[in-house]
Amino acid sequence: MKKVLTLVLFASLTIGALAGCGSSTQNSGGSSSGSKDSKVNIGCAIYKYDDTFMTGVRNAVADSLKDKANLEMVDSQNSQSTQNDKVDLFITKKVNSMIINPVDRTAAGVIIDKAKNANIPVVFMNREPLAEDMKKWDKVYYVGAKAEQSGTMQGQIIAKYFKDHPEADKNHDGVIQYVMLKGEPGHQDAELRTKYSIEAVTAAGFKVQKLAEDTGMWDRVKGQEKMAAFLASNGDKIEAVFANNDDMALGAIEALKAAGYFKDNKYVPVVGVDATAPGVQAIQDGTMLGTVLNDAKNQGAASAKLAEVLAKGQTPSKDNTGFEIKDGKYVWIDYKTITKDNIKDAK
Ligand code: BGC
Repeated sequence: MKKVLTLVLFASLTIGALAGCGSSTQNSGGSSSGSKDSKVNIGCAIYKYDDTFMTGVRNAVADSLKDKANLEMVDSQNSQSTQNDKVDLFITKKVNSMIINPVDRTAAGVIIDKAKNANIPVVFMNREPLAEDMKKWDKVYYVGAKAEQSGTMQGQIIAKYFKDHPEADKNHDGVIQYVMLKGEPGHQDAELRTKYSIEAVTAAGFKVQKLAEDTGMWDRVKGQEKMAAFLASNGDKIEAVFANNDDMALGAIEALKAAGYFKDNKYVPVVGVDATAPGVQAIQDGTMLGTVLNDAKNQGAASAKLAEVLAKGQTPSKDNTGFEIKDGKYVWIDYKTITKDNIKDAK
């Protein structure tokens, strides 16, 4: 009896160990079909898992490669040196291609050199490498969205609001007094959204005055803290709030609520970018005026498809990926304006 029990225990431990082996690898689960070995191996490093928008993108990558590749996805924990180590590991394991969301986009050149030496194609996403780095090798691609477009759309939402609501110019000075919550400095989306949002407001014929600008590092809690500070020094002078993403916009809304906004006719328009689920909910609730859909699903799907095609030794094209490849190495996914009127488009 004891012998039988020992055997059962041994057998279950062995099965458990086998099942647990390579647990960070998200593959088809169809390994029993015996087709696993024919699948390509793809390594994917995300700048940090704790980012609302990137969580959507990485889920889309994993979904798209399900049944198609053995995907190893890793968290770079917001450290470029950690990410470089992960890339070294992918290279040691001889993956067939890599998908990299750089921590520091100016560090992409180092990753490209490593990839080129090992002849492993690489698809960057969300954080755009410098143009000169992109030119270092032909098997380097980028999937993202045009940051200028999202900034312009935010500005247009605010401009329309002020056209429809002249009373939003609270001090009647003919100038929109605004505050800006910026994403991570140096990130193309932070720099360009900040610039183009305001340019769109002035292009619509409005005068603007910046009361304050600070970085909330894409983070909701930091967005709330910075907005609380803006309110402490500017009080009710603020007539519009621009945030480079929804998480910071939601943080700002918390600070505004604490200062008595969004009740008793006390209102200030807040715009974000991303159209995350909580962002869309805030539009529904009437606290966020609008956002811009940053299409995580298609950015993830395009990155996955390019990496899959490259892993098979093919050159990505519209025919084999379903996505237009611009200038030989870029896939641009369109943004979309989201307000209460078309909230369904954000799903
Ligand atoms: C998104 C942000 C996100 C950042 C990460 C941006 O495109 O709008 O929400 O934090 O990418 O790199």
